[in-house]
Order: sequence, then structure tokens, then C-alpha cells
Amino acid sequence: MNREDKPARRAVDPLEPPRRLLLGAGPSPVEPRVYEALSKPIIGHLDPYFFGVLEDVRGMLAPVFSAANGFTLALSGTGSLGMEASIVNFVEPGAKFLVFANGFFADRISEAARRLGAAVVRKERPWGEVFPEDEAADFIRRERPRVVAYVQAETSTGAYQQGKGICEAAHSVGALVIADCVTSLGGMPVNVDETGIDVAFGCTQKALSCPPGLAPITLSSRALEALRGRTAPVASWYLDLNLLDQYLGSERRYHHTAPISMFYALREALALVHEEGLRRRWVRHRRNHRAFLTGVRAMGLKPLAPEDQSLWTVTALVLPEGVQPAAVRGFLLNQYGIEISGGLGPLADRTLRVGFMGAGSTEGNVLLALEALEEALRAQGHEPEAPGRAAAERFYARLPAGHGLEQVAFGQ
Ligand SMILES: *Cc1c(COP(=O)(O)O)cnc(C)c1O
Repeated sequence: MNREDKPARRAVDPLEPPRRLLLGAGPSPVEPRVYEALSKPIIGHLDPYFFGVLEDVRGMLAPVFSAANGFTLALSGTGSLGMEASIVNFVEPGAKFLVFANGFFADRISEAARRLGAAVVRKERPWGEVFPEDEAADFIRRERPRVVAYVQAETSTGAYQQGKGICEAAHSVGALVIADCVTSLGGMPVNVDETGIDVAFGCTQKALSCPPGLAPITLSSRALEALRGRTAPVASWYLDLNLLDQYLGSERRYHHTAPISMFYALREALALVHEEGLRRRWVRHRRNHRAFLTGVRAMGLKPLAPEDQSLWTVTALVLPEGVQPAAVRGFLLNQYGIEISGGLGPLADRTLRVGFMGAGSTEGNVLLALEALEEALRAQGHEPEAPGRAAAERFYARLPAGHGLEQVAFGQ
């Protein structure tokens, strides 16, 4: 493709991204098969083969949400776009929108909704805590909103909100429920149907172990009815789910040029999920999460969320007095090539977030991260109470892989 009369000369150096072990809050490590899928030839976004790819993606996504309704799509954008799409399609300007706020991403939902003209009402709780469901339900019955939102997997704190009581109360006052499932999708039960969630969204770069770029979303029949019954058009043309359904769904009518390569990648990432088996994958995340908790506790570090409410994908750790999060992160990156994440918002000065997601959730990664954390603490003059890696090794020896496959409901 060079001009014939000129020798080829690069405009910039070849791309050589550093090798990192991604153990933060996302993105997570990508499997070779997914990278291969990304390099396949582009075809047209209206090519019959591409619609086959879309069908495969939709068919494999729905069970990851545990949603049997059939309206499951992947939107062209990251998780935040899934959030924005959920709001703009279901929260009409002026409508009362109740947000359960106990972390960074609930604040993002509130802010996005305000900008779209919703009458936002917030019920707050300290970061790291979840809402007792009866209390949340009482609040919903008192406020009688049109739409309710909560964050199932709050990545800023590592806490999981069950949501069943929230959904029941919302439905009893005729409200729809939006749940942010970005950090649970693919790594632990999302339970859309059983919980009663009407609109659930996720992303590709966390527990699905795919590059960032698509936002899976699924709708209940109740949500679908509300969407079809809208009188005012959805304020965003690009995110209008009715129009997107006509393209990505049955009618195959051009809407936008889908990011073809991302759909290839997601198809392969989902194939890996199903080859492993969903339950087996969840149990793998749970086991590695618990091994990590055992290790950090032995060292004297404190996870922010209580264990029975903690995500199996990302853990927020409270550091001992005098240990600087930025220095720990720098040490892991420079000495081990490991990326972990800092804290968000009010937690920025005293927490770190470590994620074992998708291909990153392995015994070897947990042990390496614990070893690296021990060294990082020592480098800051803080001697860990006991060796974390050794404690996790004992945990693994006691609990074989695949243990508890029959009991993967959250909280067990
Ligand atoms: C990562 C994340 C998002 C945003 O997703 P992006 O892909 O970064 O846009 C939203 N909600 C939660 C809970 C997240 O963890």
C-alpha cells in the first residue's frame, strides 16, 4: 500500500505494548483464541455471515445473564454505554428515578440520569455496605418511582447487592428495575430472571475476558413492553433499543456499522465461557477469590466488603496506616509487571482493588499477587502479620478445584 515511487518508511515505531498481567478492576487478560478472532477478515455489517455471528453472540450471552427472555443484545460501546442506554430507553425526562447509591458507579448512574432529565431520588448508604433488602423495599413503596436502579456488582467497593427484594417492591409499585451487572457478568451468578431484574447491562472486558468495546444488555418482557409502548421517541437515536433491535435483531435493517471485529472477539470469548461451563467458571472465580481473601487476611489487610457480600471478581482492600496505595501499585507494576487498580472517590487514599477475572482468575495469579503484595508492603516498611501466599496455598490444598459445583448461588 506504499506509494510506488517512495521507499516504505514507518510514520511511528511499531506498536509494542508492554506485557502486563492485568489483575485490576478491568480490563482483564485476553485469551489467545480471542486475539485470533480479532484478526479475522472484516466482512460487511449486513453480510449474512455477520448476522450468524450476531445470532451466536446473542444465544450465548443470554445464559450468562441467566435470562431466558430472548431480548439480549451487545451494544457498540463500553459498559458505560450500556448504562446510558438503560437510562435513556426506560427513564423518560421528568420521571422519578430512584437510585440506590453505595459506590462510585451508582453515582455515575445518578449523574447520567440527571443529564437526561430524570427526577433523580437517591437512597444512600456508606461505600462498602449493601442495602438491607427490606429497608430498600420500604423506601421504594414510600417513594413510588417509575424506575429503580441499583449496582449488583459495585466495583469500587467489591460489594454484591442481591436485589430480589428491590425488584419485588419495584414491581409492586409498577416500576422497572435497572441493574449494573458489569463486574458480575461472566464471573458469578447474575440471575436476571430469578432476581426479577428488568434491564441488566454488562461489559466485555471484565469477567468475560474480552477487549473493551461492547456492552451486553438484556431486557425482561416487562421492560420490552415498556419500550414498545413508549409514545415519545427515545432521546438518543444511537441508543434507541427499538431501532437497534431492528438491526441487531430480526429485521436486519441498517442502523450503524457494527464493530465487526469486536463481535468476532465476543463470540470467541463466549465460546470459551460455555466450553468451561458457566457453573464451573463461577466456582473457579469463587475459589480464587476466597483464596485471595485468606491470603490478604493473613497478611493483616482488610477487605472492605464483608465476605458474604463480596464479589468473586474484584476485591477492594483497606491498607494499613502509613502504606500508600500509589506506592504499592507502582511496586507491583515495576517489579512484577502486574497491574492492579487504585481506589475510587472517597476510598482513593486508603484502598486498592485487585481483580481476578476471566482468564486472570487462576491459582497461579492469586499466589503471585499475594507474594507481590507482601514484597510491596515490606518495601514500604510494613511487615505483613503472616505470609499471605502460604496461607492461600494451604487454602488451595484444602479446597480442590471444582469444589462446591452444586452450590453456586451467591452467598454460599
Ligand atoms: C467498569 C464498570 C462500568 C463502566 O464500564 P466501562 O466499560 O468502563 O465503560 C460501569 N459499572 C461498573 C460497576 C463497572 O465496574
